[in-house]
Amino acid sequence: MQGAFTENDLSHVVSADKAHVWHHLFQHKALETADPRIIVEGKGTRVWDQHGKEYLDAVSGGVWTVNVGYGRESIAKAVSDQLVKLCYFAGVAGSIPGALFSEKLISKMPGMTRAYLSSSGSEANEKVFKMVRQISHKKYDGKKYKILYRDRDYHGSTLGAMSATGQEQRVAQYGPFAPGFVKVPHCMEYRKDQLGLENLSGEEFGRACADQIEEVILREGPETVGLLCLEPITAGGGVIEPPVGYWDRVQEICKKYDILLHIDEVVCGVGRTGEWFGYQHFGIKPDFVTMAKGVASGYAAIACTVTTEEIFNIFKDDTSDPMGYFRDISTFGGCTAGPAAALENIRIIEDENLLENVRTLGDRMNASFKAMMEKHAVIGDVRGKGLFQGVELVKDRDTKEPVDEADAQKVVAECGAMGVIIGITNRSIPGFNNTLCFSPALISTAEEIDLICETVDKALSKVFG
Ligand code: PMP
Repeated sequence: MQGAFTENDLSHVVSADKAHVWHHLFQHKALETADPRIIVEGKGTRVWDQHGKEYLDAVSGGVWTVNVGYGRESIAKAVSDQLVKLCYFAGVAGSIPGALFSEKLISKMPGMTRAYLSSSGSEANEKVFKMVRQISHKKYDGKKYKILYRDRDYHGSTLGAMSATGQEQRVAQYGPFAPGFVKVPHCMEYRKDQLGLENLSGEEFGRACADQIEEVILREGPETVGLLCLEPITAGGGVIEPPVGYWDRVQEICKKYDILLHIDEVVCGVGRTGEWFGYQHFGIKPDFVTMAKGVASGYAAIACTVTTEEIFNIFKDDTSDPMGYFRDISTFGGCTAGPAAALENIRIIEDENLLENVRTLGDRMNASFKAMMEKHAVIGDVRGKGLFQGVELVKDRDTKEPVDEADAQKVVAECGAMGVIIGITNRSIPGFNNTLCFSPALISTAEEIDLICETVDKALSKVFG
């Protein structure tokens, strides 16, 4: 760790944190008898806490965000130069980084043409929901307003986004939610018994999962359904890759019933899975794509709602109604730090050939965890794409009964004690908070991937024998 951090500074920061900070996703009772962990510094794939302890960060800032790693001076410089030149302008005028970043981003997304900038993943998703509701008013007399979302998917912390979230523990105690949001079943092959599809496999299973969405559409009335909102690979709900055949059928269904398709790339977007976007693995043509975390790797807050010229023109060409344009603003969508950082972030991913690195190391990590299944009966399933991997822990491989969340948390704690920060799909689905999550920086090396896997191996031995 660089720079001095005295004992006095340390005790002041810790007491200020304990007295005044309300941490995210955290039960504060624990801090009555312990100090919070404070991350003081980061460089590359490593971070240091207040005691100077070094960690290999296998979750890119806790929640899949710092894709190009810590301490990137070129991003800091791009942001600093831009802030001195023009920090902000919104509403009635554009900005240079806003235009150049949008152009660059769109060049990575064939078929898409327009980017609407805001400041969080939840907000980017809310923009889609509002666009769809407005399209329903413009084209369908307000009748095609329903938004379908999937069991186990997460779309954000605001009330609209929570109305579209299929994780029971995330939404419990925050209702009532917005009307017009309807849940469809998930598509998790490992737990296909939950879907009543245990006798199917391969493409047949994938298509049957999508058929279950069609059943909901028919039940609700296709003329009332405007949008299907899906994560390309479900993140916090268990790192769930869609089965073969699923996306083709999903697209057929959307086309058949004139339903717009929204892919939430807040986690998978900008290189995490080895393509620029998760949906690009599956040959999908979405109407909306949202993204946030990896867009500027956490160096500045920026989120994007990206769409097609066809959708854009529905708003642009409606000149008969003076209120017919998209009457929405994101105040902090006008911060220039976001697009300045995001433009440099994309340059780094291109120049350092990081997508290739992600594909190679993702395969290495996946193979390494799969090899561990021989030694650790507690590993029920290993899944993921690129540097976005999940290891599901079960008490028994036949029954697939999940391990207790407390035991999964012990594995996380043991890894932390050994200097590797890993994640867990916690506080999402009752009884199923049992999947260890890995999303190291896109710049990771083979040695670092091996170190993560070896540490997990040791932690599993310690907790489960
Ligand atoms: N969508 C997905 C898939 C997410 O994982 C998240 C955040 N974890 C969000 C949306 C919400 O993003 P934010 O926290 O930036 O609002």
